[in-house]
Amino acid sequence: MKNITIIGGGIIGLNCAYYLQKEGYAVTVIERGDITNGCSFGNMGYFSPSHFIPLASPGIIAEGFRYMLRSSSPFYIKPRLSLSLMQWAYHFFQNSNAATVTKHAPHLNNILQLSRHLINDIRDDIGDTFLMEEKGCLMMCREQKALDHEFHLADDAEKFGLKVQRLNKHQVQALEPGIELNVTGAVLFKDDCHINPGKFMGVLKNYLENKGVQFLLNTTVTGFEKNNNKVCAVITDKGKIECDELVVATGSWLPAVAKMMGIKLLLQPGKGYSYTYGHVEKNISYPAILIEGRCAMTPWGQQLRIGGTMEISGINERILPKRMKGIYDSVKNFYPGLQIDLPPTDKIWHGLRPVTPDGLPYIGRAKNIENVVIAGGHAMVGVSLAPGTGKLVSEIINRKNTAIDTSAFRLERF
Ligand SMILES: Cc1cc2nc3c(=O)[nH]c(=O)nc-3n(C[C@H](O)[C@H](O)[C@H](O)COP(=O)(O)OP(=O)(O)OC[C@H]3O[C@@H](n4cnc5c(N)ncnc54)[C@H](O)[C@@H]3O)c2cc1C
Repeated sequence: MKNITIIGGGIIGLNCAYYLQKEGYAVTVIERGDITNGCSFGNMGYFSPSHFIPLASPGIIAEGFRYMLRSSSPFYIKPRLSLSLMQWAYHFFQNSNAATVTKHAPHLNNILQLSRHLINDIRDDIGDTFLMEEKGCLMMCREQKALDHEFHLADDAEKFGLKVQRLNKHQVQALEPGIELNVTGAVLFKDDCHINPGKFMGVLKNYLENKGVQFLLNTTVTGFEKNNNKVCAVITDKGKIECDELVVATGSWLPAVAKMMGIKLLLQPGKGYSYTYGHVEKNISYPAILIEGRCAMTPWGQQLRIGGTMEISGINERILPKRMKGIYDSVKNFYPGLQIDLPPTDKIWHGLRPVTPDGLPYIGRAKNIENVVIAGGHAMVGVSLAPGTGKLVSEIINRKNTAIDTSAFRLERF
């Protein structure tokens, strides 16, 4: 039986493990932490076919470069002298135009819809224990201009076969009868669903362990041993592991790990924040993205998570409380009737999204190393794309035709 070694136990690594163990491989996951926290845990848990517009888009540029350099803004680039940041920013702005978005959206749509379909299969296979709800997601707008834009996106979504409902303020209020809203209207993307990502990670890891996947936790990859054009062993701080095939799924640490084997990938960590209220007496019932507030809300019964912001400031653990205050203020602005307090600073969660310059992931074989597959750079949609990525990676390793065209996700595109 062939050995597959996966580096990274985030949602991408675990979904690759899921599909590879199903193909009969002996799978080992090497993870620096213990798979209880990280970007794949405190996120909003959306599976969003509605997110077919990549992050690099004219909408981001329209907010203006100066706005991006303001540390309180929802999308913030911290200026610093870094060649990789400059190269990333150059390509990010190059890709943020209507023509590129038109070219990329169908590829993102394909993998989003593939993933959305597969999460139902995974739920049926591993058990419905991660609070999955299939009620859609609301794009909430305060101003008519934003609502017009969302209605326009809804037209595009329908062209991709998605089900949408355009709602005026009374219709939105009817969906949340217990809570006073302050919105002009919304679009309900009905194909979107949400899960509790932390629960999903726990359930999936247990399932994989029961299926014989080996987990090497608290183990950091520090290098590789190569033989001709293959990696034959992974060097870790706990020793050497021989491998037949390797999958690298190290999220925001992808460039650092790929560099150890001579692969250059442009990617920046995009920090986001969230806070989870344990019990909200009168909670919302629909997950919602607050368009002008650039933040999001996810309910699970009486629990409520609020989160958002994108801070391109390198790999660091620094928390800026004013950014969470911005999220909280937006929530109160859209939902004045929601009884929640400002999150305490010491309980704010943060995660680093792996952001590529064009908002598409890297999924594919490394060019000059035969037995290495890269799976990363999923930015704002790593949960939404995880099952699709796992499936594609297993097909690539099996040298089968892939379920969808993966050429847009090739590693060498910058
Ligand atoms: C606030 C917020 C909200 C979000 N909401 C959503 C959402 O609703 N829907 C959605 O689709 N996406 C969402 N995302 C994005 C999503 O969370 C990420 O895209 C996804 O978690 C990335 O998964 P990953 O497995 O690639 O990376 P990670 O989860 O970061 O996993 C990578 C793993 O690799 C390990 N690693 C790194 N280097 C090494 C090494 N040298 N040796 C061993 N292990 C190593 C790390 O410890 C880490 O555990 C959100 C993100 C944030 C921050």
